[in-house]
Order: sequence, then C-alpha cells, then structure tokens
Amino acid sequence: MISMSCKVFVTIDYQKCTTPFVCKKCMDVCPGEVFLVTPNPMMIKKYQPIDENQPGSYLLLAPMTPKCVGCMKCVEVCPNKALSVVIQPPEEIAKKA
Ligand code: SF4
Ligand code: SF4
Repeated sequence: MISMSCKVFVTIDYQKCTTPFVCKKCMDVCPGEVFLVTPNPMMIKKYQPIDENQPGSYLLLAPMTPKCVGCMKCVEVCPNKALSVVIQPPEEIAKKA
C-alpha cells in the first residue's frame, strides 16, 4: 500500500497496447481497478460494429489512478511492455512545487 500523499502516474504506450479489448491482462490483475477499456471515438463508424481485433479500435485508460496501490502487477503481466507506473513520494512533490 502506498501513502495517500504520494502521487501516482500510470503511462500507457498506445504504440504497444493496440488491442486492449482482446488482452485486458492488466485489468485482470489490478487490485485497484485502475483500468478501463473503451471504444476509440476516432475509430467509431456509424452503423458499423467495432472489430476488437483491429488495432486502435479500443483504448485502454487509467481513470482510477488514485486507487493504484503500487503493486506493479500490471507492468509485470503486460506482454507488450506498454505500461509504466511511477510513484512520486511527497518529498519529491514538494521539491518540484
Ligand atoms: S501498480 Fe498495481 S494497483 Fe497500480 S495500476 Fe498497476 S496493477 Fe493496478
Ligand atoms: S496488458 Fe498491456 S497490452 Fe494488454 S491491455 Fe494491458 S497495457 Fe494493453
């Protein structure tokens, strides 16, 4: 468990995470339920079903980053090394302020 006063940054490399709807490995292991997979609004075509196998058709987001417990399970499980999680302790936040 990380301190409430730490800041967490979850970065997703979209060049590497291209079909998150098919993969979802990070979502499955994350105890904080940080991740969400959503259709890519740029790829939606009216009256056409979304092909989850088409790269870029869905996007992985990390809207619940504040709930991250810093376990790094998502980083370890990702087959494409698409994730990075950086935890900034309060003293570093103070230095940059
Ligand atoms: S480090 Fe752990 S809690 Fe944080 S996003 Fe990854 S799997 Fe979830
Ligand atoms: S585990 Fe990696 S490739 Fe799979 S959805 Fe998560 S970030 Fe994308």
